[in-house]
Order: sequence, then structure tokens, then C-alpha cells
Amino acid sequence: MSTLIKNTTAYIGKNFERYNNVDILIEKDNISKIGKGIISKDSKTVNGRDFFVTPGFINAHFHASQQLNRALGVGLNHDQQMDLLHATDNIKKDTDKYWMSYIAILEGLKAGTTCFYSVGSEIETAVKAYNNMGVRAACAIISKDIVAENKKSSVRAKTWETQERLDFAEKIHNKHHSDLVRVYFGAVNVRYCSDKLILGMQKLAEKYNVGFHMHAAEGDDYVNHVKERTGRRPIEHLHKIGALNPRVSLAHMTKLTSEEIDYLSKSGAHVVHCPRANSYVSVGICPTKKLIDASVNVALGSDAAINNNSNEVRGEARAAYDRMSDISGKANIIDYIKLFQMLTINGAKAMGLEKKIGTIEEGKKADLVMWNKNDLPFIPGFNHLADLIFTETGKAHTVYIDGKVVLKDYRLVTMDEQKLKSKATAISERYYKVFKNSIEKHLK
Ligand SMILES: [Zn+2]
Repeated sequence: MSTLIKNTTAYIGKNFERYNNVDILIEKDNISKIGKGIISKDSKTVNGRDFFVTPGFINAHFHASQQLNRALGVGLNHDQQMDLLHATDNIKKDTDKYWMSYIAILEGLKAGTTCFYSVGSEIETAVKAYNNMGVRAACAIISKDIVAENKKSSVRAKTWETQERLDFAEKIHNKHHSDLVRVYFGAVNVRYCSDKLILGMQKLAEKYNVGFHMHAAEGDDYVNHVKERTGRRPIEHLHKIGALNPRVSLAHMTKLTSEEIDYLSKSGAHVVHCPRANSYVSVGICPTKKLIDASVNVALGSDAAINNNSNEVRGEARAAYDRMSDISGKANIIDYIKLFQMLTINGAKAMGLEKKIGTIEEGKKADLVMWNKNDLPFIPGFNHLADLIFTETGKAHTVYIDGKVVLKDYRLVTMDEQKLKSKATAISERYYKVFKNSIEKHLK
């Protein structure tokens, strides 16, 4: 079945040029034709007059499974939050995390996200959720193999035997990897992962021609621990062991020296900026402008519900702008087209998918969002892209992923949205009391 969106406003190509009264033909999973007066007798016709169409946003660092921890960590620093996460993770059932994942993904989808770089130590439930919902994702298996001996708190995150984890990741890749829901490799961070784990996962990424993802340089404590363990700063260490290359994307990156920026630039590794999550736990600000000036690809990520309280990546573009503007004292420090690229094509590059997604172009996947011009943030509609970046209230009217309608009239169509919400509410109520006891125990 093909679809013809008629007479719409669309933002086309990597510079998001505005075209009025244009038609977009979707055949199977692809955008097959863009132009005026397209005729396609066998297609379902959609009247696009009241809409403008953009590529879907790409959330390049996201934890689907942490929804149950939402708002539990307000006012805590990074290490306290991680303790809280690991303490509550010991209580949560996998099936409950699975049902809550739908809510996290749905929140992003409704704000126009069509693709998630989703990370976790156990990804099978997330893979299932993305597949059932029809949402594009790359799920990276991230693990730790170094026990956090030097921590004051008694809470310890789960660690694994290195080779066992490499074998497990390969098995999961072979079992679940598909074009829509991809299975990538990764590690938690340089702080708690051995060189053998990092390089072993990278070898697997190379073998299967997919990406490698990791948290890195997230605050001073992180940097100091890596220095204690390796004698080097995190990015310096990755450079020395040969772990920086175009397959690699690194989230956070708030503590970088100019030498490390140079290593990133020369290697082609990508940075995922998570400004709101970083402020939430006060781990510093990613030097976005310096990275961009050094030709490093910078994408955006929302991180997790525990340390952001939001699962939608669009607000990260606004936050990225705010940080850059505040630091530089210049309102023109970055233009809105570059911010829009960070939300779309830069995320695609960080995932190695820039030939498939990230822009509206003939031959690319039909991952499209239709926004209703009559919705309040889009009136008068002089600059829709700036409206999307600088106003959070606009919601997607219709979303196509892989050529299929996933959201229509602001509601999920691939699953029963109300059932998902009811299920998640019931689960949340059950955990409310259990968590309360655990929080008091671990954070006093
Ligand atoms: Zn994260």
C-alpha cells in the first residue's frame, strides 16, 4: 500500500528548505517521490494542506527502561542517583520495566521522535516494545565488568564476567537484529569497563557493521576515577587504546580538554549532548560550540527519566541553545537550522544511518512527522522549525515510521494506547510504597 501526501508544506533536504504545495509519495518503507502534481492512482491520498512535514527526530541517547524512576532523583547528584537507580533496579521486575518502557517511548513519539538510540544492560524487553510499537531504534547492550570498589555508598551495580558478556551480546544481536530495530554494542562507561570489554564490543560492532555506544566524561568524579584507574583522562584513554573511530558515539562529554576534542575530531567519533540530564545532576556542560568548530558531529539525547524527567529529545535542542547562548553571551552563537540538524541528521550519523534517515529526501526511509498548522505553537507559523525547537507544547499529529502510520490524530495506532497507560498506572501504584522504603534506606 502506498500513500500520497498532497499539497503540503515540507522541509526538505539537509538544510530543511521549505517547499509549499508539495506532494510526497510513500511506497513501501521509502519516500519514493517528492514534487508538485504527483499522480499515483493506487495510493491512499492524504490531504496535507493543514500540515507541515518534517523528518522525525532522533533521540541519540535514551534509556527506555528507567521510567519507573521518574522524578525519584530530584535534587540528587549523579552518584546518588545511580545508587538510587541500582537499589530500585534490585526490586523491579523485568515485566514491569517492559510495560513502563512503552510510556517512555510513547512520550518521545508524541513529541515527534521516530528513532531512539536506546541503551541498557538487558535490551530484550526494549527490542520487543519497539517492534510492537513499530518504532525505529538501535538498542545497544551496555555492561560493566569493574566493581565500584572506591565508592562510599554500599550500593553496587551489577557487573559481569567480560567474555561471558561479549558472548551474550553477540547472541542477542544474532537473535534480534533487524532493519527497524537494530542491535548495537556498547559499554556503560570508561569508569567501570575494562579495555577488554570496550575493545571486544567494538570488535563485534565492526564484525556486524553496526555502532558502539558509551557514556563518557560525565563530570569531574568520573574523570578522576578514570585517571586513578588508567593514569589518563577518559577520551585520552580511549584514544590511546585505539577505541575512537566513526562507529563510536559517546554520550555526555561534559569534561573535555582541547587535546581530547582534537582526538575526537581526527577519529570521526560522535558526541551525544544531553544538556538537560547534565544540568539535572550538575555534571557540567558539554563544550558544544568548540566541538562543532572542530568538525565533531554532535547529536542530542534525553538520557533517562531518572535524570531528566523528560523522554522527549526536542527540548534538548532548546537547552543546547540556552547553554551556548549563556556561556558565549551571543544570541547568534548557533542558528536554528544547525539545532534542527542536531535533532535529525546528526543523530542519524551517530547511529551510522545517515543514508537511511534524518532528512526528507527521495530514496530515504519514510520516517515523517505531520504537524497541524492550526495547533497553537504553529500560529502564525512564520518559522515552523524555530517553533518546534523553542516551544515544547506542539505535539505530532501524524507519524510515519518505515512508511507505516504509527500515530494518527495525536494517538498511537499500532497498539491500544489507553491499555498501555492503564497498565503502567497500575504498576506505578504498586511500586510507590516499595520504593519509598528503599529510598529512605539508601539515601539517609
Ligand atoms: Zn545514559
